[in-house]
Amino acid sequence: MSRVLLKEITKTFSRRVVAVDRVTLEVKDKEFFVILGPSGCGKSTILRLVAGLEQPDSGEIYIGNKLVNQVEPKERDIAMVFQNYALYPHMSVFENMAFALKLRGLPKDEISNRVLNAARVLGIEELLNRKPAELSGGQRQRVAVGRAIVRNPKVFLFDEPLSNLDARLRVGMRAELARLHQQLAVTVIYVTHDQIEAMTLGERIGVMRDGKLLQVGEPKVIYDRPLNKFVAGFIGSPPMNFFSGKIVREAPPRFVHPAFTIPIITEDGSQKTDVGFPPSEVILGIRPEHIQIFPGGVGNGKQESIKGAMVEVVENLGNEALIYLKLGQEQVVLRTASEQVPKPGEVVNLRFDIKRLHFFDIKTENRLGEITGLKDINGLEEEKSDSRV
Ligand code: ADP
Ligand code: MG
Repeated sequence: MSRVLLKEITKTFSRRVVAVDRVTLEVKDKEFFVILGPSGCGKSTILRLVAGLEQPDSGEIYIGNKLVNQVEPKERDIAMVFQNYALYPHMSVFENMAFALKLRGLPKDEISNRVLNAARVLGIEELLNRKPAELSGGQRQRVAVGRAIVRNPKVFLFDEPLSNLDARLRVGMRAELARLHQQLAVTVIYVTHDQIEAMTLGERIGVMRDGKLLQVGEPKVIYDRPLNKFVAGFIGSPPMNFFSGKIVREAPPRFVHPAFTIPIITEDGSQKTDVGFPPSEVILGIRPEHIQIFPGGVGNGKQESIKGAMVEVVENLGNEALIYLKLGQEQVVLRTASEQVPKPGEVVNLRFDIKRLHFFDIKTENRLGEITGLKDINGLEEEKSDSRV
């Protein structure tokens, strides 16, 4: 059993830098867990604490069921792969992979078996006699992973292992790491600032900011129900659109913004005056794929659309387009798979997907209530969304 449990872990480097702030986290046995957050938020420090390269100020770290606070790094049965994978330049690939095993005094046959097995898993058998200088970036990264595999660790720690690779290679290595995890059936803690890596690799993701763990969950849950505005904005590309406005409670309850008004309903579909939180200033969030361009004056006479959005830039990506608009003073971005996209300078109407609105408290930035709806003002069923421009 090689779950990793952090209990109330705090690590400060000086009075001013709280690198890890009361983090409690359980990574399950054989789980691929991703820690995601911007540079400096404490990700590497968490890995170093798990590896035993740093000591926490307070809190407990368990690997399996064993408290390891006092256990030496080399006794923790953990292997770490870094962004700067620093292979020994004067050693061959074989020697690089064998090095840690030699230090441990393993028999020659055993070392050779383990290196050959790891090389096979990684598809680098033909490279074993080469020096690092004779390898591509991706091959070097594979050797660095191989060095970790030969040690048969209970837990793999990856610290931004792909960020030195070019984009295409990164995608390839990403798939390879996922395959490797399935094959080796080990616990992985993988740190990255790249939300796409996190979404694609993680069975669960923990999002961090300023030393704090803000939300832990499956990628889809984090995407669909971010617990605060930071998480909402950090995951997803292009990021979620945000609008500051007011909730007006008198019937019909509505969100009022200088450029538009959206009647709101609660999740059960009813239009209550009690909308789950006090009338107050809130932030409305909506993802780019949940906004449509909508033809006609008043939305085909059925559902009100948001009028007067001006197209500024259209980015055509082949399979989809990103459309950047100006709505009043606000920038808005939407994503569409439609073949027909408007041109810069055109003024269009928008419609927000009524089930996909997020609300955040303007002060705490925490997710609010369960208001999810844009009210169909004429009381008709929600229209099919095939009426794009
Ligand atoms: P991340 O890996 O998310 O980029 P780190 O864990 O490396 O972040 O760093 C978290 C914070 O702790 C940063 O403010 C960083 O400057 C600080 N920090 C990390 N290591 C040290 C150290 N050895 N001495 C002083 N400050 C450090
Ligand atoms: Mg780091």
